[in-house]
Amino acid sequence: MESAVLLLGSNIGDKAANIHQAIQLIQKNIGKISQTSSMYESEPWGNQDQDSFYNQAVLLQIKETPEQLLAKCQAIELELGRDRKAAQKWAARTIDIDILIIGSKIINTPNLKVPHPELQNRNFALIPLMELLPEYEHPVLNKPIDELYFDSNDELEVLKLEI
Ligand code: ATP
Ligand code: CA
Ligand code: CA
Repeated sequence: MESAVLLLGSNIGDKAANIHQAIQLIQKNIGKISQTSSMYESEPWGNQDQDSFYNQAVLLQIKETPEQLLAKCQAIELELGRDRKAAQKWAARTIDIDILIIGSKIINTPNLKVPHPELQNRNFALIPLMELLPEYEHPVLNKPIDELYFDSNDELEVLKLEI
């Protein structure tokens, strides 16, 4: 068993409901979530001409291989109506599930990169990860998450929601 942190994001429709549904499907198809971060509202990153995102990170123990975990996350995205056909890069979406980390594993294949390669450049990923695993040290950059957050050039706002 390995601990994994998944980052959920939504910026179409009922964003909180989309994230709640994704959490239900993660528990049903992957495993019991031991901890969830707060829900955050984040300014869109990369492609700014779209609605804000809701983001929440979840921590769980996984039995599957990283590739199986990715496949299960993508199946949940499809089940929740994510449309990949229209997708330009960083387009609006009902649900996005990114694998932020899997223990201290380092994976660098064409289909899967772990830790997520943009983690250190995104406040909306660093902040919820810090909430779940304050002591975590990035296995490639060899720095704790709070230091990566301090070093990050991302200036986009990430607001904690009281929901
Ligand atoms: P970004 O990855 O920059 O957040 P995105 O989430 O919009 O962008 P997607 O269209 O959801 O990108 O995914 C593109 C591909 O990224 C997926 O098909 C998957 O194979 C690959 N991928 C690589 N590493 C990861 C990871 N850690 N978590 C999820 N997908 C990943
Ligand atoms: Ca993403
Ligand atoms: Ca993704």
